[in-house]
Amino acid sequence: MRDNLMSLPDYHVHPDFSFDAKGTIDEFCKAAIRKDLTEICFTTHYDTDPRLPEHHRYMRINGELVPTSIDNIGVYVDAVHKAADKYIGHELLVQCGVEIGYFSGCEDEMRKLFQKYQFHYKIGSVHQVNETDICNQKSMKIAPSKYDLDRFADLVYEDLIKSAESGLFDVLGHIDMYKKYGIQPYGERINNIHEGRIDKLFDAMIENGCGLEINTASLRKGFAEYYPSMAIINAARSAGVRIVAVGSDAHRPEEVGYDFEGAMGVAYELLPYRGE
Ligand SMILES: [Zn+2]
Ligand SMILES: [Zn+2]
Repeated sequence: MRDNLMSLPDYHVHPDFSFDAKGTIDEFCKAAIRKDLTEICFTTHYDTDPRLPEHHRYMRINGELVPTSIDNIGVYVDAVHKAADKYIGHELLVQCGVEIGYFSGCEDEMRKLFQKYQFHYKIGSVHQVNETDICNQKSMKIAPSKYDLDRFADLVYEDLIKSAESGLFDVLGHIDMYKKYGIQPYGERINNIHEGRIDKLFDAMIENGCGLEINTASLRKGFAEYYPSMAIINAARSAGVRIVAVGSDAHRPEEVGYDFEGAMGVAYELLPYRGE
């Protein structure tokens, strides 16, 4: 029996099935137990946006990179379920989720994916707009040569709104992650591009039962605030958008539950979250 079980579940975790992550499901579960987490939800990447570089559209199975596909992801689902059986006896609830890299046009494939597998938790994330990879420093560096900040903001928020309107997701992931590599090329003004755009996004989220994730990965990247910023979190709350989970977006076992003590103070409505 562990003594300190007051912690939030971690609902955004990438095991090494994600091409950009290290550490097995087992290693992540052990790390979660070490940090006194009682629940962990794996959310491997499912990115199939044809505009992304090829390696982003791959997942890793037994050390080999293979295309992310409805069939291939079955190996991940089975592995998480196996861990769930194993760790339930160690007081760790292991859930199987997924992080979809949303792009307009992915809806049919996602419907098929969600018909085939009963994911406990589905994150919709915008990782790409037009030919710009928001998660890539080099790609963001040249973004201003393609669109000014207003145009960039419109593109991001149009896709965020469409992802909410698709009705496919429980939550939108890291909604202002564009600040990560966007401040340098666009300046601090990028921190405010939600203004005048986010109300429409909140309406779409509420109408479609889609909540907000608080993602602590930003702190690992040197930011003082989470994704999204407190300004957005507070606006979401007052608009009636539900905060549904906190996620570390861990890509290494040691990152599980990162800064969850701090996140508990922000996401106080979540103690404890048990899904729907
Ligand atoms: Zn993501
Ligand atoms: Zn992620």
